Amino acid sequence: MFAIINLDDERSLDRMEWTDDGQLLAITSTKGNLYVYLTSLPMLAATQQTRIAHLTSLLEVTIEDNIQQPGPDTEQPATISVDVEPSYLGLGPYHLAVGMNNRAWFYLLGDNVHHGYSGGLEQLKDREYLGTVHSIKLNADYAAAHFEDKIQLHMHLSVIKNQIEGETSGTTDERESKLFPDKDVNQTHITCHDMTQEFLIFGTDNGGLYYFYIEDWQYVNEFRHSYGVRKLFPDPSGTRLVFIDEKKDGYVYNPVNDLLVEVPDFSPYIKGVLWEMWALDRGVFIAYDEEKIYTYMYSKEHVMGTRCDLVGTTKLPYGQIPIMLHNGEVTLQTQSGKLVTIALDTHSYLFIDTIEGKTTKEERASLNSCLDQCIALKRWKDGWIFCQQLNAKEYWLKLGYASFKCLDIDFAIRVFREQGDVGMVASLMQIRHLEDRNLLSGYLAMYLGEFNLAQDLFLASSKPLSALEMRRDLLHWDSALQLAKALAPEQIPYISKEYAQQLEFTGDYMTALAHYEKGITRQEIDKDHDEVCAAGVARMSIRMGDIRRGVGMASKMPSRVLKKECASILESMKQWQEAALLYEQGGFYDKAASVYIRSKNWTKVGELLHHITSPKIHIQYAKAKEADGRYKEAAEAYKQAKDWDNVIRINLEFLQNPEEAVKIVREVQSVEGAKMVARFFQKLNDYGSAIQFLVMSKCNDEAFQLAQQHNQMEIYADIIGPDATPEDYQSIALFFENEKNHFLSGKFFLLSGQFNRAMKHFLRCDGENSQAIELAIETVGRANDDQLTHELVNFLMGDTDGVPKDAKYLFRLYMALKQWREAGRTAIIIAREEQSAGNYRNAHDVLFSMYQELKQQKIKIPTEMANNLMILHSYILVKIHVKRGDHLKGARMLIRVANNISKFPSHIVPILTSTVIECHRAGLKNSSFSYAAMLMRPEYRNQIDLKYKKKIESIVRKPDKTEEEEPCTPCPYCGFQLAETELLCPECKGNIPYCIITGRHLVKEDMSACPSCDFPAIFSEYIRLMETEENCPMCSEKVIKQNLQKVSDTHKYLNPEEGITE
Ligand SMILES: [Zn+2]
Ligand SMILES: [Zn+2]
Repeated sequence: MFAIINLDDERSLDRMEWTDDGQLLAITSTKGNLYVYLTSLPMLAATQQTRIAHLTSLLEVTIEDNIQQPGPDTEQPATISVDVEPSYLGLGPYHLAVGMNNRAWFYLLGDNVHHGYSGGLEQLKDREYLGTVHSIKLNADYAAAHFEDKIQLHMHLSVIKNQIEGETSGTTDERESKLFPDKDVNQTHITCHDMTQEFLIFGTDNGGLYYFYIEDWQYVNEFRHSYGVRKLFPDPSGTRLVFIDEKKDGYVYNPVNDLLVEVPDFSPYIKGVLWEMWALDRGVFIAYDEEKIYTYMYSKEHVMGTRCDLVGTTKLPYGQIPIMLHNGEVTLQTQSGKLVTIALDTHSYLFIDTIEGKTTKEERASLNSCLDQCIALKRWKDGWIFCQQLNAKEYWLKLGYASFKCLDIDFAIRVFREQGDVGMVASLMQIRHLEDRNLLSGYLAMYLGEFNLAQDLFLASSKPLSALEMRRDLLHWDSALQLAKALAPEQIPYISKEYAQQLEFTGDYMTALAHYEKGITRQEIDKDHDEVCAAGVARMSIRMGDIRRGVGMASKMPSRVLKKECASILESMKQWQEAALLYEQGGFYDKAASVYIRSKNWTKVGELLHHITSPKIHIQYAKAKEADGRYKEAAEAYKQAKDWDNVIRINLEFLQNPEEAVKIVREVQSVEGAKMVARFFQKLNDYGSAIQFLVMSKCNDEAFQLAQQHNQMEIYADIIGPDATPEDYQSIALFFENEKNHFLSGKFFLLSGQFNRAMKHFLRCDGENSQAIELAIETVGRANDDQLTHELVNFLMGDTDGVPKDAKYLFRLYMALKQWREAGRTAIIIAREEQSAGNYRNAHDVLFSMYQELKQQKIKIPTEMANNLMILHSYILVKIHVKRGDHLKGARMLIRVANNISKFPSHIVPILTSTVIECHRAGLKNSSFSYAAMLMRPEYRNQIDLKYKKKIESIVRKPDKTEEEEPCTPCPYCGFQLAETELLCPECKGNIPYCIITGRHLVKEDMSACPSCDFPAIFSEYIRLMETEENCPMCSEKVIKQNLQKVSDTHKYLNPEEGITE
């Protein structure tokens, strides 16, 4: 349905008829009226920028501009009535041409157009041409009419008039008119033309494209296309032009650099092309056929070079023709003579309502397609807004790279800076100033990873070396080498070296060798470089099988590393001889030896042996020597490798040197070695030694079995010592139990911690076996078990076998049980018994050891015990001093003993007799008399030894009471002078400790102590005693004179009870 017409005044229609061309429709009504309708106007229009002249009825042309901004100067549509129906229109800045056949009428637009004054257009003189005009183009000063194959270019009459009225110039006449083709462009047929302000542009049927520069009145540009040019469409500036050739292909031509770009996907039915009139959108044009409008973007600058891209298509409404494009909107002429506009689908983003708040997936997808439109149209700033809304890195990168590819570096920098991509910003900042577009594009292509393109661009630029630099940086040595050959031959050696190293790494040794050889410069300055190359040549020669050359070079060169590398290669090639040689030359002795070993060159290994540190090599050598039967060398090599087990083995098995083996086993405590030695002794039937080494090798079970088999259990038991496990001890105990050896069985049960069983065996031992009783006591002490204690006490008391055992065992038992008080009491009893029996030394020793024990346990020593010990010790001292001939000291001690004579009941008379005799000898006449008188008592008199009887009787009969007073020394507590042997200070009532040498009380300034028992003594007297005696009179231990020291800290000796518990 095209249109519906209502005839308001008519009730019904009568007839209707079309004209043959279908343009006019005639209708008659029943009322008798005739109506003629124009159904479709010829679609005739001309444009100048955004201003459009078009046919609005058969005899009316309207000029309008719908793009201009509204304002006081707004141009209103103007209409012009014409006398004939025009077949072509032309519109210039100031003129309208309306024409038919070979005639054209010109109108001056002037200011009245701007004021909407219609009908007042000044009609100028009409003009006739030499043929029927197809089209006419105007600029401000000229008109160009195309008729037949020619163009008539002529100046507007109004311009001529102005020039005549103003200054006339001599050139005016010849510039009034010109016919093309002229003599310069002969024998061609002009097929199309257009005019810009500066140029008349026309195409010809033989492919010519001519730019005639009107100001200079001459051609400035000619281009020859392979096919005839059919149509052409320059942009308003004339610097870009789309033309369609005979083959219906479209091209964009740039007259500035003659660059021709084919328009892609160009429809063969294209009727026309319109350039974007919006000033900011240079490069966009549309082409249209009957169905679609194709939007293209022509990019003069692009990293891939000048290009033209199809952006998209828009459906064209039926029967309408695009006549003007402005900012994505196309003005269409309709068949009814009206103008309508449609928006291009490729520009649809311009017409959406809002982008704010679009967050759903679909909305974001549509924002993304808007961003794609902006990018396709190179409208970066609009793209920025969408990126801000989308707010994700991928979109920013898309925008950044797109602007970057179009060489819009400043904008790309803004985007990458927004994204914080410092590296990219820095890279772009470095090249933004480059004016050489090829160089700039080269860098951009490099950043995009398009290295081949970058290379081409660099090579086409003013700095072709950049291509070489790029390849070097990329380690593309092959390409770099190619470039260096052309651009910088002096770099070839260095690149060759790098390339060779890469080839060596990838295993292409043959090529690597060639490049290493090319790398050598033989320049003094390149010494290090040449060495690297030479080393490479050496390595590659070997790899390629030229071993003599490679080894020769490596030998001559000083580098140890090279020798090692080459040797390693040779080793992998099983070239042992050469590999070892190079290792040796490089000082890699371990490696060299290892290779010699592989090639079984033992002589060389032996020569290198003193350099070798690796135990592995020594072991290998040792094994080889052993296999050869050279055991001594083998043992030595094993020793170097510290492989002791093998040293032991060789010594035992081959060198018949068990002493060495045993020595090593003891030194290094080798378990395996001990086992071997044990086996060795076993073979010799030396079971004792074998057991010993088995124990050493921790083979206790084997040792036990061997001991059992060969009745060597006691040896085993001896050897196993304190380190054995309870299980070991138990095995031994069971063995002896079986043998009915109660003592040993008990001993090992005790060691294995089985106290009950141990006790059972000890109690079965012979009652006289003191060792068994001692161990039984130890058992009780460790077991801490009342039942066991009770059993042992019964045994000791004789309850078990009717034989009471020596009381000292009871004492020991209490000691083992740590029952110190009971032990003390027992000690006193034992001592008393000994004393009664006259065994004074025994009594003394029992009390002494008890005394020491209690002192060690910090337990108070019973006064009775201390006193008894003191008296017994005094008795001991008598013998010592009398023997030495010191009768005075002996006499003093005898006086002390005699005063306690009841404690010596078995020897009352002999002791008193000795006292009388010794006192007499020492000049203590009065004391001698007193004790002699005591002996005269009837109960003693008859017991006096006949030897002394007369003497004693005479002492009593003629009493001599002369006796010097005993010398005094100071009390160590209060300083009071008291008799030397007096132990109780009458002044301070202090009990003064006695000297173990003299029995006198201690003197503070002259004190010492026995190094063994720590009993105190008078220092000077101790020293004197040592002149004749060796042992301490108290503990009977040997005393070394030099160890005797005067003590300065006398406190602990004078206050023995401090820190002691009751
Ligand atoms: Zn005193
Ligand atoms: Zn002592």
